Parts: sequence; structure tokens; C-alpha cells
Amino acid sequence: MAGIASGFGHSYFTKCVQEGKPTQDLWQAMAEAGYLGVNLPEEYGGGGLGLWALAAVAEELAAAGCPLMLLVVSPAIVGNVLAKFGTTDQKDRWLRGIASGETKCAFAITEPDAGSNSHNISTVATRDASGYRLNGTKTYISGVEDAEAILVVTRTDKDSTGKGRLSLFMVDADDPGLERQYIETALEAPESQWMLFFDNVEVSEDRRIGEEGNGLRIVFEGLNPERIMGAAMCIGIADYAMAKATKYACERKVWGVPIGAHQGVSHPLAQVKVELELARLMTRRACAEYDAGVSAGEASNMAKYAAAEAGIRVLDQAMQTHGGNGFAREYGLADLWFVMRLLRTAPVSREMILNFVAEHSLGLPRSY
Ligand SMILES: Cc1cc2nc3c(=O)[nH]c(=O)nc-3n(C[C@H](O)[C@H](O)[C@H](O)COP(=O)(O)OP(=O)(O)OC[C@H]3O[C@@H](n4cnc5c(N)ncnc54)[C@H](O)[C@@H]3O)c2cc1C
Repeated sequence: MAGIASGFGHSYFTKCVQEGKPTQDLWQAMAEAGYLGVNLPEEYGGGGLGLWALAAVAEELAAAGCPLMLLVVSPAIVGNVLAKFGTTDQKDRWLRGIASGETKCAFAITEPDAGSNSHNISTVATRDASGYRLNGTKTYISGVEDAEAILVVTRTDKDSTGKGRLSLFMVDADDPGLERQYIETALEAPESQWMLFFDNVEVSEDRRIGEEGNGLRIVFEGLNPERIMGAAMCIGIADYAMAKATKYACERKVWGVPIGAHQGVSHPLAQVKVELELARLMTRRACAEYDAGVSAGEASNMAKYAAAEAGIRVLDQAMQTHGGNGFAREYGLADLWFVMRLLRTAPVSREMILNFVAEHSLGLPRSY
């Protein structure tokens, strides 16, 4: 895996980004080697190895300078949800393609008004004679330009407390009534971000994943893999940045000795190395818990928190170690800044993780 990824490397990644092209050759090479569906069931063409294996793929890709958000969304979230809750027909229809890499899927939960409060989503699926009609707006949905279908989280009802009863649907990206609007961001990533507008989009009942109204459980099933994969991406980017930083610190001489000999350079790198390895350990634990089928919420949240914080600090310190060259495209660090920084905010923000830990790990009352 590392061999395939490093064969493409960061220069390939940046070339795709600058030309506005998907990283299709890399995706194809990974698909042919069987890496895109390593976590998915063997009977649908996957590797049957569990999430730890896909997390290793995400980590190695990012460590080669090619962090792919699509890997988080398509095989990790949508693939896992379909594997656990899809019917045989649904698995035949989408899961096989996801496992082989042929089918790419996006995941849409975030809405402009609901934000982090997913209970409050207002995209509604209303029953009609032919199935359902979807109406509403989603925002910051990654990779729609390259996706065949989108797993969309909707509300089909409300419970007695006013919280939405959620239902999930696989919607074709080119369905009539579904419009998209490009969101310009500072990210240098091959995946684009989109706002999606659902205007009476017709969806047949056989595209509903799981029972009507039981979507919250399904969403939670997809969120732990999302957090674990986000953590794996952070760790991979950090490995990439750390390798560059240590090489540069050994080679660059300003006062007659390599700059890495100065403790002002080496200690901050050593410190973030410790933080990085701790985050890696927590990510491994989260994978092990998820694959063992035990409740992985706490470990997944902690892994994503730790990996994002460590990753940001590693990349920042790697740039600092490079002096002015930290900002030159040639050194391949600064262009990853926004992708790395994004992972503190998405797929779940640092604050919502701290809320989770405060409430569930520490038993503290919640404020919201
Ligand atoms: C590049 C990018 C790609 C994305 N891709 C996808 C995707 O593919 N699919 C998808 O569905 N979504 C996607 N998202 C959305 C992402 O998951 C959300 O942006 C993220 O979860 C934060 O939600 P929000 O932007 O609505 O922030 P808000 O919920 O508005 O929060 C704003 C700030 O307030 C803080 N805050 C909110 N509530 C609390 C609270 N109770 N306590 C303390 N602090 C709080 C938050 O932590 C945050 O710092 C993407 C976002 C980006 C930027």
C-alpha cells in the first residue's frame, strides 16, 4: 500500500488539485490492489478485514502526501452503513461498486441551520404514492462531483420532544430536482464542497436504508468510522510532515551545524512526536473496539480529537522547522495546512467531542 501511494506522492496530488481533476489514477491503482474495500464484507467483493485495515490505507495514503476525503466518505461511512443496514438488493446495487472502487458515494447530513445539532435537521422526506419526496438543503457535502449516489439523512417525523426521527436514503447524484452549488473554500484538496438543494426529489422506498424513523442509530453507526478515518488521515499527514521536518532539520545548516542539533528545533519536534504516537495508539484502540463490535464512541471521539490536535501541531512545527521554505510550494507542507486544520472542525468539531467526553466519560451535565 505504502508503495502504491508513494509511487504517486504529493506532487501527483498537488497536480490533480491545481488542475481541478480527481485523483482517479491513484484511486484506480488502489482499487486494483483491493485496498478500497478492505473493510467491507468479502461476499460483496471486499477484503473482510475490518475498519483497522481501511484506517491503515487512509494513514498510508496521507503519509505519502495524498490525503483523500473520499476514502472517509465512500467506503468508510456509506460502505459501513450499507454493509450493516442495507438489504441484499441494496448491497448488490451499491456495496459491490464501493468495494471495487467503481462506485463513489457522498454522505450528506450537515445543514445550514441545524449545524452540529443533527436532531434539528429540516430536510424532510414525505411519503407519497411512489415512495418519498425529499425537500431541503444540505451544506459542505464533499465529493459530490465524483459521486454516483449520496447517502442523505432526512427527517420523516418528530418524536414527542420535537427531535427529528431520521431516515436515510440513497439518492442518485443526478436525480431530477437535486441541484448543487459549488462552495469555494481555501482547501487544497481534490474533493470539492457543495451545497445541495432538494426540490421534490422522488425517491423510491427501496432506496431507504433501514427502517423509517430509525436513522439516528444508523447515523451513529456511520459516525464512529468517520471519526476513526479522520484520525487516521491526521496521523498520516503528520507522519508525512514529520518525515520532511526531520530530513530538513538534519540537512539544513545555518550556524555550521544542522538546525536539528539546536534544542529549540529538536525539542518541539520530539514533543509533537510523543503527541502523535499517543494519538496513533488511541486510533488503534478505537479501530479495535469498533471491529470487536463494542461501543467505540468514546475511543473514536478521543482518537479524532487527539489526532487532529497532534496533527496540527506536527504540521505547524514542520513548517516552522523549514523557516521561510515552509511556505514554498516546492516543500509541500503549506498546501496541506487547511486540510489538516479542517480536521479539528470536521467531521465533528473539537467542541462537540469535548461535550461528548464531558457528558459520557465524566458524567457532567450538558448545557444544550
Ligand atoms: C471542507 C468540509 C467538508 C465537509 N464535508 C462534509 C460532508 O461530506 N458531509 C457532511 O454531512 N458534512 C460535511 N461537512 C460539515 C462538517 O461536518 C461541519 O462543518 C461540522 O460538523 C461543524 O458543523 P457546523 O459547520 O454547522 O458548525 P456549527 O454547528 O455552526 O458550530 C460552529 C462552532 O460552534 C461550536 N459549537 C456548536 N455547538 C456547540 C455546543 N453545544 N457546545 C460548544 N460548542 C459548540 C462548534 O464546535 C463550532 O466551533 C464538511 C465541512 C467542511 C468545512
